[in-house]
Amino acid sequence: MKRLLRGGRVVDPVNGRDGLFDVLIDGDRIARVGRDLPVESGTLVVDLPPGLIVCPGLIDMHVHLREPGQEHKETVATGTAAAVVGGFTAVACMPNTSPVNDNAGVTEFILKKAADANLARVYPIGAVSRGQQGEQLADIAELKQAGCVAITDDGHCVQNHELMRRALEYANMFDLPVMDHCQDYSLVTDGVMHEGYWSTALGLRGWPAAGEELIVARNILLAETTGARIHCQHLSAAGSVRLLREAKNRGVPISGEACPHHFTLTDAAVAGGEKFWPADGAGIFGFDSHSEPPQWAAYDANFKMNPPLRSVADREAILEGLADGTIEILCSDHAPHCDYEKEVEFDYAPFGITGLETELALSLMQLYHAKRLNLAKLLGKYTIAPARLLGLSQGTLNVGADADITIIDPDREWTFGATASASKSRNSPFYGWRLKGKSVATIVGGKKVWTEEAEAAAVGT
Ligand SMILES: [Zn+2]
Repeated sequence: MKRLLRGGRVVDPVNGRDGLFDVLIDGDRIARVGRDLPVESGTLVVDLPPGLIVCPGLIDMHVHLREPGQEHKETVATGTAAAVVGGFTAVACMPNTSPVNDNAGVTEFILKKAADANLARVYPIGAVSRGQQGEQLADIAELKQAGCVAITDDGHCVQNHELMRRALEYANMFDLPVMDHCQDYSLVTDGVMHEGYWSTALGLRGWPAAGEELIVARNILLAETTGARIHCQHLSAAGSVRLLREAKNRGVPISGEACPHHFTLTDAAVAGGEKFWPADGAGIFGFDSHSEPPQWAAYDANFKMNPPLRSVADREAILEGLADGTIEILCSDHAPHCDYEKEVEFDYAPFGITGLETELALSLMQLYHAKRLNLAKLLGKYTIAPARLLGLSQGTLNVGADADITIIDPDREWTFGATASASKSRNSPFYGWRLKGKSVATIVGGKKVWTEEAEAAAVGT
């Protein structure tokens, strides 16, 4: 069947296309993109309201789907349901499941669950070390053969530099990128929030920025030593951005990603809404003149993640790194946890927040609406950049490409409510936030897997 999307503003970063175009989908492929395409008989014409963006399907390359082993937090089915609501046609899932994705059996299990759910595409990421113990390399060739698109010990960080070097050398032979959650254990010890004024004021143990920067520096040195690519995950600290910028200028094969919570919130948020808004709330698009910003209590564990929320200077540095291209990828680090796990003292709560359904809005607010990046540059960080890093064929609207498409209303204002989330978990710091920008339809392989209207009809609104 052929379907013609008409009247949308097509933004296809890799082709430098940004304007009013029609997109013709034939079956599961993009057939044509052009102005005023002729309507052949039998073609279903979809006239889009003005102002909507049609772009390649968004890819979130840092997601925890929790299956196998922690299905009480999330499953491949619920995680990909949250993904398509958020506008994501593909996600890459981290290996810190139970058992760990360090062998073909687990990789194949995840792919089977993804095929059953039949929503977003799922790209498993394998572990660097067996059981993510940081001692012995996982069987990297086996992981690649089973369908893993990269390796990382995310959730953990490889502390042994020699093991990391070997991982890079092996992965390079199989053309697999190595990614790293950058955290020096000896320096961070049992820190639970950014080490600074607020950790002292709140009496919580600090997680110093240098704990991340040390491993970013280590990774730069190893990328230079081996010539293999390393991708630094969820960067949070100004020093990491500075190191990355300098290394990239010298041509070192290194890259980085950032998550919206790190460039929206700061460590003051752990002291509660009352402290956050007057201290660091200014600078978040849409909230400067807001009469009643959302509120939350101090020590709310939905503001606890790893790496932690950092200072205003760090937040600014991440935004600058995104604006100047030092950080080329946006992602959520979607990390679901149950209420009962989070509803404990801050020290004891697990790290992590959900993010698939809010990341697009927060990125649009802080980067596009705040005039730091144009739409093509922003959407490139969610499409072609992750596709290139992981070696995926998606991320474009090229003729013949998979018809993975996200339709976005960049100006839509909406409030994120806990009851509306498709994720199995509710650990988001952004409930009650007035957000700007929203996906309205998600198409995977030519098939509408989610639309706002269909959802509204289903719940009777
Ligand atoms: Zn991580």
